[in-house]
Amino acid sequence: MTESSSAPSRPVVTRFAPSPTGALHIGGARTALFNWLYARGRGGKFLLRIEDTDKARSTPENRQAILDGLTWLGLDWDGEPISQAARAERHAQVAHDMLARGAAYKCFATPEEIEAFREAARAEGRSTLFQSPWRDVPEADHPDAPFVVRIKAPREGATTIDDAVQGPVTRGNDQLDDMVLLRSDGSPVYMLAVVVDDHDMGVTHVIRGDDHLTNAFRQSMIYDAMGWEIPVMAHIPLIFGPDGKKLSKRHGATGAAEYQQMGYPAAGMRNYLARLGWSHGDDEFFTDAQARDWFDLGGIGKSPARFDFKKLANICGQHIAAAEDAALLQEIEAFREAIGDPALTAEQRDGLLRSLYCLKDRAKTLPELLEKAHFILAQRPLSPDEKSEAQLTDVFRGILNELTPQLQNASWSRDSLETVVTGVGAAHDLGLGKMAGPLRAALAGRSVSPSVFDMMLVLGRDETLARLKDAAG
Ligand code: GLU
Repeated sequence: MTESSSAPSRPVVTRFAPSPTGALHIGGARTALFNWLYARGRGGKFLLRIEDTDKARSTPENRQAILDGLTWLGLDWDGEPISQAARAERHAQVAHDMLARGAAYKCFATPEEIEAFREAARAEGRSTLFQSPWRDVPEADHPDAPFVVRIKAPREGATTIDDAVQGPVTRGNDQLDDMVLLRSDGSPVYMLAVVVDDHDMGVTHVIRGDDHLTNAFRQSMIYDAMGWEIPVMAHIPLIFGPDGKKLSKRHGATGAAEYQQMGYPAAGMRNYLARLGWSHGDDEFFTDAQARDWFDLGGIGKSPARFDFKKLANICGQHIAAAEDAALLQEIEAFREAIGDPALTAEQRDGLLRSLYCLKDRAKTLPELLEKAHFILAQRPLSPDEKSEAQLTDVFRGILNELTPQLQNASWSRDSLETVVTGVGAAHDLGLGKMAGPLRAALAGRSVSPSVFDMMLVLGRDETLARLKDAAG
């Protein structure tokens, strides 16, 4: 019986262990986030291990894409990423230790013999799990032939994983075979590598997708055989799409990089991903500091969470609104770089910084914010888009000619600007609402922008008047 619910008394060490056979998936990003939050909230370490033993499918590009994705999400790891493949010798050494302890044995059965065993078992209606005849054969009787190293799995009793999310899960040991630890070429198998690495890295909590729960039973045999303390196991349910089926491209973007490219802010992504399968009361919006304080394994749900694109956008909008201007500007610049937009000039950066107060509410993504920022990023003479062009009628050009001298002498405050614009509008029977459209067109050349008065205040008198004169023609 294996118990794993009581936390080891060592400082917390978690890890994210992606296989670089693809880019960083949203599900992987959430697993990384949970591990990061758990460690960071407890002054622990968050390690990164690249499980690159599948040489055919692991690529340096995928490895880099995973590191980039984590970096974008702000999930910083401690130390250098560890390559699993580079540790193969150590993995093999542990298998030899197990041989020496009598916890493993050399098996000389050929593939044909194993197949024959299975066929006979099938014919007799017995379990087809291979039972090697070499399990108890003393070394002196071993042939000089190729062999694999197998674990001596318990044949009786049951193993219980006391999972921090799933609760106690028990499997009869008769369902576990003497799995291979070392192949006949001496290379270690993946299952052994994971356990050795987690042990050597001092991992105290394994938080990962519940598709690995079955592996946990096999892995616990290795811990037991080596007399190692098994980490706390927390197997988290998969992420589903809004229709309750496993999240896939059919539902929308599944790669972390795609969300970066769409301009979702990293803090919003972290907040939303944390809520995907974990909850803290009814809290939907929270800061990183709150998430670190609150995150615990008990708050992880047992059933799959559904990805809700609307909720994601909503939370991201709240994070943009709550962001500090300097940090938001930095994120905007990083975003522009990521999508290949030209870097901002010093002047644009300065203008943007002054306008963020009126740009950041109601923008759910950075492109939405940048669309509203067109008025400050564009240079005179503006090229109004079609909708704006249509607003600049002859009548309105006449109104602009009345407005500009008055603005020339107005004090540059919201109140007096409003008084002037309202006054000129009234003389033409136009309310503020009717004046706003064409003014917006003149000041931004776009129909999406902050309010007319915010634009005037940010642009200042000279630039405002110059734009109004441009528009008056
Ligand atoms: N490499 C595995 C994966 O990407 C994770 C293994 C683990 O977390 O133990 O699914």
